[in-house]
Amino acid sequence: MPDIIRLLPDSVANQIAAGEVIQRPASVVKELLENAIDAGGKNISLIVKDAGRTLIQVTDDGSGMSETDARMAFERHATSKIREASDLFSIHTMGFRGEALASIAAVAEVVLRTRTRDSETGTEVRISGSKFLGQEPVACNPGTQFQVKNLFFNTPARRKFLKSDTTEQKYILQEFYRVAIPFHDISFVVMHNNAELYNLPSSGLLQRIVRLMGKQALQNLVEIKSETSLVSISGYIGKPQLAKKTYGDQYFFVNRRFIRHGYLHKAVAQAYEKILPSGAVPSYFIFLTVPPESIDVNIHPTKTEVKFEDEQAIWQILHASVREGLGKFNIIPSLDFEANAGIEIPVLQKNTEIRTPEVQIDPEYNPFEKETERGRTAKYASSLHSSELLNWEKVYAGFEKTPEEEGSEADLFQQENRAEQISGKFIQIKGRYIVTAVRSGLMVIDQKRAHERILYERYLEGLKSQQTASQQELFPRQISLTTDEYRFLLPMLQGLQSAGIDLRDFGNGSVVLYGCPPEWKGNDPEEMIRLFLHMLREEEGDPELIGRERIAENLAKATAIPYGKVLSQEEMNLMTDQLFACSNPSFSFDGRAILTIISLDEIEKKLR
Ligand code: ADP
Ligand code: MG
Repeated sequence: MPDIIRLLPDSVANQIAAGEVIQRPASVVKELLENAIDAGGKNISLIVKDAGRTLIQVTDDGSGMSETDARMAFERHATSKIREASDLFSIHTMGFRGEALASIAAVAEVVLRTRTRDSETGTEVRISGSKFLGQEPVACNPGTQFQVKNLFFNTPARRKFLKSDTTEQKYILQEFYRVAIPFHDISFVVMHNNAELYNLPSSGLLQRIVRLMGKQALQNLVEIKSETSLVSISGYIGKPQLAKKTYGDQYFFVNRRFIRHGYLHKAVAQAYEKILPSGAVPSYFIFLTVPPESIDVNIHPTKTEVKFEDEQAIWQILHASVREGLGKFNIIPSLDFEANAGIEIPVLQKNTEIRTPEVQIDPEYNPFEKETERGRTAKYASSLHSSELLNWEKVYAGFEKTPEEEGSEADLFQQENRAEQISGKFIQIKGRYIVTAVRSGLMVIDQKRAHERILYERYLEGLKSQQTASQQELFPRQISLTTDEYRFLLPMLQGLQSAGIDLRDFGNGSVVLYGCPPEWKGNDPEEMIRLFLHMLREEEGDPELIGRERIAENLAKATAIPYGKVLSQEEMNLMTDQLFACSNPSFSFDGRAILTIISLDEIEKKLR
């Protein structure tokens, strides 16, 4: 057999790779703006024609490029920003992969004009579909101008795939905001089809946000700020008035780079719990500053995903500082805030030894685990949770076990001795906590987290075993969804059915609800489904790839009883019962404590 494997010509390889980086005109805008910023531009203009189909032009007054660099810039993996692998761990620029220009030039006609400050003339390079057309001297200002014309002219499938001009234009502006907000000290001009959309002078952050979002933002933003040795957080969060029903104005920047982060979004969203109607999404513009070596930005070609070394601790700090921000402005009653703050923010002080704050949470901690295994969890014992761990042991003290029973402590606890452990009277505080006496003191349970945990395990079980019963609706009801919601929901229908939510496709953007889990009784199932969709969609991605855990988590969050719901004795009793039947009653699936015990010792001390 003859040899048949061949290397692809560069132009084809570039076209394939371009698909990853350049998906639509907005991707070109992002890459060119980032390059202009990396080059130190202070005045940047963006000119767009026909939503980027015909022309995208970015001009900066930054460093410019030499004649050779102007040609080199279009080579794949040509970058001036990193030299060796270790540089990857300390990236300070927006770009570093050296892929953008090669990718853009593979799928468009590009004209580059550039001049360095110390050269008399500039140089012009023309490239079309990766083909070098020529280079010649040109008169131009110091700095760089890229013109990208007829995007996707040689990849008709991609070109056809583009959405309407309005939609593509929206994507372009979205990318523009993601750069213009963190780089508020740079001035920007944006033109579309000869109309000036923005003319933003260099300014402070708040002014920049207000310029972009409109004046109403000014009264409705609250500043947040917190310095810890792990992360510095600053920026603005919106008062409830600024919240919307749809996602859009949620911005996280890590070291001035826009990122998406479903998990951190929850830290913010949960801080707004109780003060926003369900389904509303808070607006925020939050800047996280961390040492570059503590994050990994290299996991995604378009770099909007970032992996933090210490995500859980950052979650806690972020959550606390948003609550503090809301509390300061009396958006949350401050008493309430203090009671809920829960964690101390480790403050960075000059001249103190820098030490990573130890907020350790063991999501696997299971109080029913055997003594030997408990040693493993001991390393997680921290100032935050050690008291709980200790107390847990006390709850079970006096709980003599015989060797045969060792393996089934949990069962034993539930079946026989529960009555003895939890004495049966429940008090509800502030529509939030369930308090009851246990052998070692007072147990305080967070009602919403408890219910989320119960539902989570139940949904997950259903998703795995595919046989959760649902209560059939007397009158199946039709739910109309937006095209996006519908498309997102379809691949999940089967999974949802196995979790007891009997939703069926009705075509044309609507679904019909035939039955829902008994726990939903008394609630509006339609609202719950919408909320669930909202929360899940915020994690983005492909609905086909969303794991069961994610679905169960979001379902649990969307359907758990809210804070403020008054519970009867029976309901509290049932909830405690169900909680302790869970595989992990101590922690919520995102690592927060569900319950705590105030020990008799502590009570005695206080009353001494
Ligand atoms: P990266 O930004 O990842 O380095 P790009 O393909 O975006 O890769 O750019 C390649 C190189 O071209 C950059 O490293 C930089 O040296 C140069 N370059 C690109 N845009 C500009 C610009 N606007 N001004 C000066 N140099 C630029
Ligand atoms: Mg770049």
